[in-house]
Amino acid sequence: MTDDDPAVPIVCPECDTETEVPLSEIADMLDRHNDNQHDGEECAQVDPALADELQDLVAEDMGLLE
Ligand SMILES: [Zn+2]
Repeated sequence: MTDDDPAVPIVCPECDTETEVPLSEIADMLDRHNDNQHDGEECAQVDPALADELQDLVAEDMGLLE
């Protein structure tokens, strides 16, 4: 069970795509996509609408909100 590994939407405005990726694979996924598709430019990123929420989630996980 992977409650700590929620699927997170990644959007790439350049490709006009949205993909759901497990939280633990986001960094790899973004690297690979941007390397392969955009010569290493950071086009794809976590859905900005979710980025804030995600930060809270991660911060909470790390006990930073205590
Ligand atoms: Zn792209």
